[in-house]
Amino acid sequence: LDANPDRSVAFYSQDMNQGMQERMRIESGLRQALGNGELTLYYQPKFEIGSDRLVGAEALVRWVHPTRGLVPPGEFIPLAESTGLIVQVGEWVLEQACAQAAIWQRAGVPPFRLAVNVSAREFTQSLPIRVADTLARYHLDPSWLELEITESTLMHDFERVTAIMDRITELGVALSLDDFGTGYSSLSYLKRFPIHTLKIDRSFTTGIPADQSDCAIAGTIISMARQLGLRVIAEGVETVDQLAFLREAGCDEVQGYLYAKPLPAFEFEQGMRENWLL
Ligand code: C2E
Ligand code: CA
Ligand code: CA
Ligand code: CA
Repeated sequence: LDANPDRSVAFYSQDMNQGMQERMRIESGLRQALGNGELTLYYQPKFEIGSDRLVGAEALVRWVHPTRGLVPPGEFIPLAESTGLIVQVGEWVLEQACAQAAIWQRAGVPPFRLAVNVSAREFTQSLPIRVADTLARYHLDPSWLELEITESTLMHDFERVTAIMDRITELGVALSLDDFGTGYSSLSYLKRFPIHTLKIDRSFTTGIPADQSDCAIAGTIISMARQLGLRVIAEGVETVDQLAFLREAGCDEVQGYLYAKPLPAFEFEQGMRENWLL
């Protein structure tokens, strides 16, 4: 028992205050960052297992903070999601990703899908309109674009979510289900939603091959995806043992440090020129 309850209350509210101040500091900093052009995109390649061809890339946002340096998304995306600022961040990310893809398209790079992460809060009726408008403005072929959504997006109003997904896929833009296996969506969703690719979450990839349950989960996701006619990619692949297991299990694609970390555009282009099979 706390002998001095008043003191613990005082500490508690002080902690809460500090937490809130920190959040407000990050929020106003992020608002400024959007205006000042402090956000940037890194690109991580995705490869087809077997052929080792570059088949896609994921755009991952970074905040180049004037004093703190490169701030990873884990430190501001969750906050942006809870404050609603994610909508503006997402708008910037889609714009920037399409601008970059259009540069590659014009340069004659063999097309691959550039995936953009989309939070549940961004998944509204206006999203397909914004996607169509952005593709049109950059004269970007829709086969260059993919949206990665998570199971939490699917948990909302079924009719509404399906209508939005249908409109996006009608544009020719692919949808993938990110962090698959970590959420609570029922498997029947997979049949009902127009999803092209399942992304096995890194938490399962990490345990391969030592952890039997992780191997079983990854193997099950892969065989289920194949039976449903979906493509499947494993994220967070760091070792050749993981790659060997995934290849054996029939996984289509891989992404991870074994091949490349997320890279700034110029380094990604260097990879395309010098190292990767296009
Ligand atoms: P995510 O979508 O699951 O992205 C994969 C994360 O795993 C990235 O972290 C990536 O750098 C990291 N990763 C990739 N390969 C490996 C590997 O082999 N080993 C390890 N240890 N990590 C690997 P990152 O860039 O820090 O992004 C974290 C999360 O932030 C993302 O998770 C995503 O949920 C969110 N995020 C990033 N950019 C955006 C964005 O533009 N919009 C939204 N809404 N969310 C974003
Ligand atoms: Ca993702
Ligand atoms: Ca993921
Ligand atoms: Ca993940």
